[in-house]
Amino acid sequence: MANSLKDLKSILAENNYKLTSQRKVILGVLLENKGEHLSAEEIYSIVKQEDPGIGLATVYRTLELFCELGITQQLTFDETCRRYELESEEDHHHHLLCVKCSKVMEFNDQILEDFEKDLGKKYNFKVTEHKIKFYGYCEECQ
Ligand SMILES: [Zn+2]
Ligand SMILES: [Zn+2]
Repeated sequence: MANSLKDLKSILAENNYKLTSQRKVILGVLLENKGEHLSAEEIYSIVKQEDPGIGLATVYRTLELFCELGITQQLTFDETCRRYELESEEDHHHHLLCVKCSKVMEFNDQILEDFEKDLGKKYNFKVTEHKIKFYGYCEECQ
């Protein structure tokens, strides 16, 4: 879980990746926009202002790497629309995804946390995490 540049640096180092200036800028944008669930294109448009040398392909590749390393998670609406956010243990939440306007809403509910405990007991399974996404139409799109 990367919650600072220092965390990211150590995650990258553990996996034999360097903290390049481009990776630094992209992480910075993700940190500054927590809760925004930006798309790669949106991230690119912010990144570009800080480092005009970064191309969209680099942003895609970096996000892919970040997802692989568990630094970010991807919210997929369809082939053409993906949004990204930093993985965070402290800020545990789930997502409601509008398939029409690609809006993301966050929620958390104790029922889900209790459900996890019950499941663990029932199947004698040690659950370490869960990710729940609901797809549908937001209020404006219904
Ligand atoms: Zn979120
Ligand atoms: Zn909507």
